[in-house]
Amino acid sequence: MQWSEATEAIYLLQRDCVQTRSEFIITANIFYNDKQMKIIKNKSLKEFNSFAVEAKAKLFAEINSIEDLFEAAKIIESENYKFKVIGEGSNVLFTKDFDGLILCNKIKGVKVVAEDDDFVFVEVASGEIWDEFVARSVENNWSGIENLSGIPGTAGAAPIQNIGAYGVELKDVLISVGGLDVKKREVIKLTKDDCEFGYRTSVFKNALSSFVITGIVLRLKKKFKPKLSYKDLTDEFKNISKDKITLQAVRNAVLKIREKKLPDPKKIPNGGSFFKNPVISKEEFKILKKRIPEAKAFQETENSVKISAALLIDKAGLKGFRSGDAGVYENHALILVNYGNASGKEILSLAENICDTVFKKFNISLRFEVNIL
Ligand SMILES: Cc1cc2nc3c(=O)[nH]c(=O)nc-3n(C[C@H](O)[C@H](O)[C@H](O)COP(=O)(O)OP(=O)(O)OC[C@H]3O[C@@H](n4cnc5c(N)ncnc54)[C@H](O)[C@@H]3O)c2cc1C
Repeated sequence: MQWSEATEAIYLLQRDCVQTRSEFIITANIFYNDKQMKIIKNKSLKEFNSFAVEAKAKLFAEINSIEDLFEAAKIIESENYKFKVIGEGSNVLFTKDFDGLILCNKIKGVKVVAEDDDFVFVEVASGEIWDEFVARSVENNWSGIENLSGIPGTAGAAPIQNIGAYGVELKDVLISVGGLDVKKREVIKLTKDDCEFGYRTSVFKNALSSFVITGIVLRLKKKFKPKLSYKDLTDEFKNISKDKITLQAVRNAVLKIREKKLPDPKKIPNGGSFFKNPVISKEEFKILKKRIPEAKAFQETENSVKISAALLIDKAGLKGFRSGDAGVYENHALILVNYGNASGKEILSLAENICDTVFKKFNISLRFEVNIL
């Protein structure tokens, strides 16, 4: 599947434009570049992160088009700014002010680029809200991502940690990723293999950290076959024959299960799972099993298994633990929450204490899933 020609044409056109230096008009705390992208100085990021912690961006701009991104790339290069792109800020923790340019991605658009009897190939612009796209797919009877219903954030952030839930990961449907390497000012198209997807990781967290994703192409199925291997979903549909289960019913069930388990960031600010589930050797698991008989292992490779980080935190006695306004959610030990005015530093410090305590108790290292900034 090729990245669409129209998008490519815009890329190439804009790449040719990024040679001239922009002139800034400075008005108080806002200035515009020559393409009218508004750049704001000292912008509070509190409403741009789901932990609702306070931090200021030295410079902040909303990107509404690929043209804006090319303009931003030009500014970043000419002024040698540090930069970071964010979507909905549902997987970042700001622990200090950001001394550079924050680009808030609002690039929109959804387009069917190809289809046959079995599949539809859809290009989704990176600023689209992921769950709105899932809802739209379900309405169109396109299946494959219904188990990923309700995950906050943008489509462009989905490949960064290869979002996953209820037995499905983005990599199961992703065909390609397109975007711009801002530092090199290079338009890049990546196939799924190029993305080096793993459990909550990808090449974008490593070698391609200055890459801004502008769109993704997904392959969705026209014929629906529910994936219900995850226990909560199996239970939900245990009395219904498989051919009676609809795509919409699976989406509704996932949304219902998530609502029960996870705190709504609008009511209790949080970043979802703060820690990844650790992967340990089978030998290490045997030792752990003696200490926590209810521990379960999920095969990862021939010699390694994935275990529940939430169980380790719970067994370390930290579920519901609170330090000031930073806390471990009382109904789910993997989720750190901001009960009011916690700072990013306080939440990070709580996370580090949890890692230390779990390590001392079980000799197992926890790793952060949330991106620390
Ligand atoms: C309540 C809750 C539940 C969650 N449940 C799940 C879940 O079930 N499964 C799961 O996998 N995740 C889950 N998450 C985490 C989060 O929803 C995902 O990681 C999501 O993809 C983040 O999207 P975002 O737009 O908010 O990204 P942001 O938080 O804004 O950014 C996350 C990272 O991606 C980078 N990034 C963002 N956009 C781009 C882009 N266009 N190009 C390059 N880099 C980019 C950022 O620089 C940052 O490093 C949950 C979070 C919350 C708050």
